[in-house]
Amino acid sequence: MSNPLLITEFLHRARDLFGGKQIVQYADGAEVHRYTYRDYYERVVRLAGALVRLGVRPGDRVATLAWNHHRHLELYLAVPLAGAVLHTVNLRLEPDEIGHIVDHAQDRVVVADSALLPLLGPARQRNPQMLVVCTDGRPEPGVLNFEQLVADGPELAEPPAVQEHDLAALCYTSGTTGPPKGVGYSHRSLYLHTFAACLADGHAICERDTVAHVVPMFHANAWGVPFAALMSGANQVLPGPHPTPAQIATIIEEQRVTYTGMVPTVAVDLVRHATRAGADLTSLRALVLGGTAPGVELIRAIEDDLGVPVFQGWGMTEISPMGTFSRPPPAADHDPALRHEYVRKQGRLLPGLRWRLVDDEGNDLPHDGVARGELLLRGPWVVDSYYRDPHPESFADGWLRTGDVATIDPDGYLEIVDRAKDLIKSGGEWISSTALEQAILEHPAVADVAVVAVPHERWQERPLAVVVPHREITPEELLDGLRERVPRWWLPERVVITDDLPRTSVGKVDKKRLRRSVPGPSAD
Ligand code: ADP
Repeated sequence: MSNPLLITEFLHRARDLFGGKQIVQYADGAEVHRYTYRDYYERVVRLAGALVRLGVRPGDRVATLAWNHHRHLELYLAVPLAGAVLHTVNLRLEPDEIGHIVDHAQDRVVVADSALLPLLGPARQRNPQMLVVCTDGRPEPGVLNFEQLVADGPELAEPPAVQEHDLAALCYTSGTTGPPKGVGYSHRSLYLHTFAACLADGHAICERDTVAHVVPMFHANAWGVPFAALMSGANQVLPGPHPTPAQIATIIEEQRVTYTGMVPTVAVDLVRHATRAGADLTSLRALVLGGTAPGVELIRAIEDDLGVPVFQGWGMTEISPMGTFSRPPPAADHDPALRHEYVRKQGRLLPGLRWRLVDDEGNDLPHDGVARGELLLRGPWVVDSYYRDPHPESFADGWLRTGDVATIDPDGYLEIVDRAKDLIKSGGEWISSTALEQAILEHPAVADVAVVAVPHERWQERPLAVVVPHREITPEELLDGLRERVPRWWLPERVVITDDLPRTSVGKVDKKRLRRSVPGPSAD
């Protein structure tokens, strides 16, 4: 049978099979609300009815500007159920950037937390017709109230007809290497991606899990995990606005969370807090790191000091976002160092996707763990064009050009060498900023580091290391420690000691900003 693959199918399953499972809401580190999947279903159906009554038509975009909370989770399904497209807007962007994105997407409705409404100033000026709904209260005239909509919403008895290739969601890239680009997710792509998130050799999300959504819900659909939890009947915990490391630890302890994911920066702070406070995070069967490469010391600390199994996933907004998962092979089961080495790599490709490694001319390179080239990808949850701005340069013969430079070993383990834009070309040879950062992180005095290229008259580019230390350390001391760990020509031209690194809206080091702020060319 060729039933359409619709993400909203999981909603009925959640009500019928897992009606008693829990959705738990936190705010400021304390539980504030809890309800069942049965209640969730009821509210989603009413919310979808309310959206249709407001005039939302199939294909319309409904934006959210919201933290991770249960109302946001309701919109995740209610908007597609109304036949519309859920556009999750990144709340860490500047008001003008939000204005640009909301304008580009031509959002018809935006649902925002009251504390975030001021960020919508430019967006509302550009489009005064846009309806604004507030998730908590009604702070100003003309703004609709979410709870009122749900209370008054007619149950959507007959959802609008939707095809599987119709869009269900829309996200803009966080813009680490260029301006944000729109990525549309069809029902079909989200449906298949959700199955992939539940595979036993991958994230393995299942009914036994209690999942905490630490990844922001505006970032690539919180990695797609809310859909996976709904499909499999896992309990879900939402931390609310601005969760601190201490609050995340509390949530894990109180709710006996079994699965969560986060970017390495958040994990570093969580480990530091948990170690200091003696928090017990051992209910976790998996802490998944992604978004940027984690250092091996972080992996070791999570596993050895906190007793929590750690995994890594590589992905991109453009691929929904899961691409690989780093589950170590059975041979590493009793060898922690080998296990950490596997987890340090980005892992194996999820089934359903295909990849290639190519050189600058587009020729295929061997998967021998040595040859490095650009990673290309295709598959049912990979974008084939950007929303309303196709950007053909990002695609080649039906493959997405990821912009990541990588190696793939004969067993199929991916290792990201660098983003193409971050590689350092020194005297015609490439230096991987990621590999150099990992080597610098091995110094016990180093808490964090970013390596960027600085222009150099003789060598074209040389690495500059910006280091955040745990304790006082001089550049010379750091370079001395590094000499035995990297080739001589990798040694940073300069080391800048600082208190903090600039970060993008999703917690990655903002190398664009760092490059602009570092000292100019060197002549020797
Ligand atoms: P942006 O492109 O704006 O950073 P994304 O969150 O979509 O927004 O970032 C995708 C990119 O993040 C990938 O192309 C890759 O460079 C990097 N990335 C994601 N996960 C990992 C990982 N586990 N290890 C290394 N790099 C990663």
